[in-house]
Amino acid sequence: MSKPVLVVGAGPVGLTMAAELARYGTPVRVIDRLPARTTQSRALAVWPRTLELLDAAGCADAFMATGLRADAVSIHAGNRTLARIPFGTIASPFSYLLMIAQSETERLLEEHLGTFGNTVERETELTDFVDGADGVSCTLMHAGGRIETLEAAWLIGCDGAHSFVRSRLGLAFAGDTLPMGFVIADVHVAGLAIPPDEPAIFWHPDGAVMFFPIARGHYRIIADLGSVPLHTPDLGEMQMIVDRRGPGGITLSDPVWLSDFGVNERKVRDYRKGHVFLAGDAAHIHSPAGGQGMNMGMQDAFNLAWKLALVARQDASPCLLDSYSSERSGVARQILSDSSHMTRIVLLRSHLAQRVRNFIVKQGFRIPAVRRAIANRLSGILIDYPDSPLNIGSARRLRGPGPGQRLISRRQSGRGNMPPRFVLAATDSVEARAMMARHSALLMPETELPPDENGIWLIRPDGYVAAVAKGGNWTVIDMALDSMAGNRNIRTYDEIGRHW
Ligand SMILES: Cc1cc2nc3c(=O)[nH]c(=O)nc-3n(C[C@H](O)[C@H](O)[C@H](O)COP(=O)(O)OP(=O)(O)OC[C@H]3O[C@@H](n4cnc5c(N)ncnc54)[C@H](O)[C@@H]3O)c2cc1C
Repeated sequence: MSKPVLVVGAGPVGLTMAAELARYGTPVRVIDRLPARTTQSRALAVWPRTLELLDAAGCADAFMATGLRADAVSIHAGNRTLARIPFGTIASPFSYLLMIAQSETERLLEEHLGTFGNTVERETELTDFVDGADGVSCTLMHAGGRIETLEAAWLIGCDGAHSFVRSRLGLAFAGDTLPMGFVIADVHVAGLAIPPDEPAIFWHPDGAVMFFPIARGHYRIIADLGSVPLHTPDLGEMQMIVDRRGPGGITLSDPVWLSDFGVNERKVRDYRKGHVFLAGDAAHIHSPAGGQGMNMGMQDAFNLAWKLALVARQDASPCLLDSYSSERSGVARQILSDSSHMTRIVLLRSHLAQRVRNFIVKQGFRIPAVRRAIANRLSGILIDYPDSPLNIGSARRLRGPGPGQRLISRRQSGRGNMPPRFVLAATDSVEARAMMARHSALLMPETELPPDENGIWLIRPDGYVAAVAKGGNWTVIDMALDSMAGNRNIRTYDEIGRHW
């Protein structure tokens, strides 16, 4: 049997990574040093783009059956509603935000992993590794102190913000610790007069208090601490904050979790060194404003898994793996910047600045296009890879997405256990059938309707466009697939440009 991929960490990112690799038929082991899954709710927000990818992986239904569907988020100042951003306008089959505790997300992902016959090896810690010419020699310590040496084809560090893999690689986690702290409580809430499934943010001169529904009557409450040092709050302190900053008439009870957290904004520059990759919090951390951290990490996994699977099968050139770091690092830069701006807007301290902010939000969010733009941005559906080394061709003068942009393929949805495959979105023709026969190791054997009948789209296994050509220009598609397979250098754009 070929060497397995070792995934270190069975948080949401490691579980997604392991499940995707297993789904694609790649030998994989996933370990976690802890004896059991987290019981903390932590990340609650699962955004539409993540749901689309979970759908393609075949497990979105279980998420929808478990989570709470939020159709909007609202912003208030006392009893005044400043803005309500509906999610129904998000251009996705999943036009809502799914609220689901991270403990449940991990349970569902672990069950999904189990459908491929894989389990998490718990109480197993990666204690050392050495990257070599043909793979990574990993030292694992099992419960009771037993040591195992595992020869892995690749090692993927999904081992969280304090990543051992990252520090052993000597990669800098560049960025800042912000001078702000938050308290957090998962509690029963009575008397909150907004739709029960809707997150609500209340701005007050003292700071913000935010309510995120977890289950009927149960909410995650987050409030900033201002100049007060970090500390674990008790229920009385949370009640005082809610009384002062909220709309009034709210009673908290039955706390399940009370905690505090600071905010770091950090990322690594390179997500890969040799046969070792980083994903999730191991590669980037940022403010929870916007609820993007776990989503971004899971999308790292969706991005890397199909590439590793194709390379492991020798259906694609190892060069394909170089695109992971550049694509996902660009996304992290954008999301860190967005969440940093959101955090600073929410936490404005000057009363004048707060009044100006409230006025702008009240006026600006009256405009439907503004509400739509914000909802689409939060949803993750605008994430794209405009500078990916995999992009070929152009959608100029065509109605449809360009290279690097998202394009959901019906053929890739919920296909269960199978190797990753690209899809040709093109009018059925002799040329299309010849292309599918010539690249049968990479292409699904059936076409799908293109966004514009005058064009040809090559859709990646993770639902992004790899190549676009005007109808008839099959050379572009052929070259894209040849590059992927390693028959050509993947970066020969000049050459491709001449054919375009
Ligand atoms: C209060 C709070 C609220 C949040 N809200 C949101 C939200 O609404 N939406 C969102 O998207 N994100 C949110 N986040 C962020 C989210 O929780 C993280 O982004 C997410 O948990 C990262 O997942 P991960 O799998 O990368 O890492 P982790 O969940 O940290 O998992 C890492 C795993 O690796 C294991 N491990 C570490 N070292 C080793 C080793 N050497 N050997 C074996 N195993 C090891 C650990 O035991 C752990 O299980 C929130 C975070 C916090 C703290």
